[in-house]
This record gives sequence, structure tokens and C-alpha cells, in this order.
Amino acid sequence: MQLANMTWPEAGKYFQENDIILLSVGSIECHGKHLPLGTDTLIPQKLLELIEPKTDVVIAPIIPFGACDSQTDYPGTVSLGVDTLYDVFTKITQGYRAHGVRRFVVLNGHGGNIPVLDRVALDLQRQGCMLAEMNWWLMAWDLNPAWKGGHGGAEETAGILAVDPKLVDFAAIEDMELKDVSDELQATGFKTVRFKGVEIPLVRPVVDISDNGWIGPDHPKNATEEWGVEMLNACADYIVEFMEAFRRAPLPVRK
Ligand SMILES: [Zn+2]
Repeated sequence: MQLANMTWPEAGKYFQENDIILLSVGSIECHGKHLPLGTDTLIPQKLLELIEPKTDVVIAPIIPFGACDSQTDYPGTVSLGVDTLYDVFTKITQGYRAHGVRRFVVLNGHGGNIPVLDRVALDLQRQGCMLAEMNWWLMAWDLNPAWKGGHGGAEETAGILAVDPKLVDFAAIEDMELKDVSDELQATGFKTVRFKGVEIPLVRPVVDISDNGWIGPDHPKNATEEWGVEMLNACADYIVEFMEAFRRAPLPVRK
């Protein structure tokens, strides 16, 4: 049941009988030359399509933009930034709190949104509410370690193949070549370098780390539609089951 399709009397009845809502947030950002800018939004949207017939929890409209300040050098990438996203999420969650919601489930498509969701979750706990983050790509790693992936790698490429195979440009897939800071400080990922066996965060714009914008470990050429379909179905089923357990859990009591 999508909130956007409901009338206010229908919504009023739902919020009288239920204190849970499913929110979602993505990002519009570079995902390598082979994946669409909306990857982090399109995959959650697909998950919502799979979830909707399996639950009576109301689904709010997705927020398509997220916090991706490190990637704004790539054409088409736009970031709300953590402060604006925090304000947006606070407004939305407080709005639904005023209508009686106490349990917020957030389907998230992008790692850069996590610090914001953590902060909003703490605020809500102190107000007697709870917020659970459904970071689908991390959830997928736990559901099946073979699905573990990076940014624009095989995991997300498989996810987009499940959304629409036409959205993946296989001919544009390149190998990952990370740019080191120096001979001694070798780039190992999004924001880390390795020095004497230890990973050290050294934050740089992603465009300074990767020309094509995908960062593994999982090479996107290994993605298949079958993988994506199985993975998104597993994540959708997990989220549906989680929401039932979340519904039954006691709310925090503040003294
Ligand atoms: Zn992504």
C-alpha cells in the first residue's frame, strides 16, 4: 500500500491502527561508466515493488537524492549533503510521528546516507520511537556472502540487471584502477590507503581515486540477471519478515 495512492481518511484509519511506516532513500550519483546515476534509487524502488504485495505496512514515497559529497565531480551527480538530508529526514519522520508513527523502517540504497540515518535514529529513540535501517546491499552480504560487493561492482550491477537489463552498458565496463596517494600510501578503497598493512582513512573526492567511478572488490563483468533477481527477492522477503518482528518489539521507554 503506497501512501501516495491513499486518501487522507484512508491514511487516518491506517495510522490509528498501525504505528509503523516504510520510508526509503537513495542517491543520484556516479556508479561507474556502465551503471545509471540512479542505481541507489532504482534498486530500492524495485525492492519496494517486490515488498508491497507482501506486507500491509504503508510505503512512503522514496527520497531519490542522498548525501554523496565525494562524487559530485562526475556529471549528473548531485548531493543533498548530510546536513540537508538530516533536515529532510527529520522533517519527514517528525511529520509521521505527529500522525502516530513510532516505528520507522528505512530502506536505504546508499552508504553515504548511513551517518544521517544513525543520527535521526538516535533522535527518535530519545522520543520513544525506533528507526531501523535496511541497507539492502549490506543485508545481502549477510544473506549470502557470495553477493558481497562494492560501489558499482557486480553486486549493484546484478541489482540493476534485475531492475532492467537495458540499464547496464556492459560494453562500458572497465577494470578498476585505483590511484594511489604515493608509492607508500596505496589506495585500497573509497576512502582508505594501506600503510604497513594497516588501512588508514584518507578521504578524497572519488574522481581523484578512480577515473571510471566504480570501486570493487567485485568486478561488474561477473554480474548476472539471475543473481540480481535472486538477491533482490531475498532482500525483499527479509525486509517483510523484519518489519513483522520490528512491529512486535517493545518501544523504548524514556524516563
Ligand atoms: Zn550504490
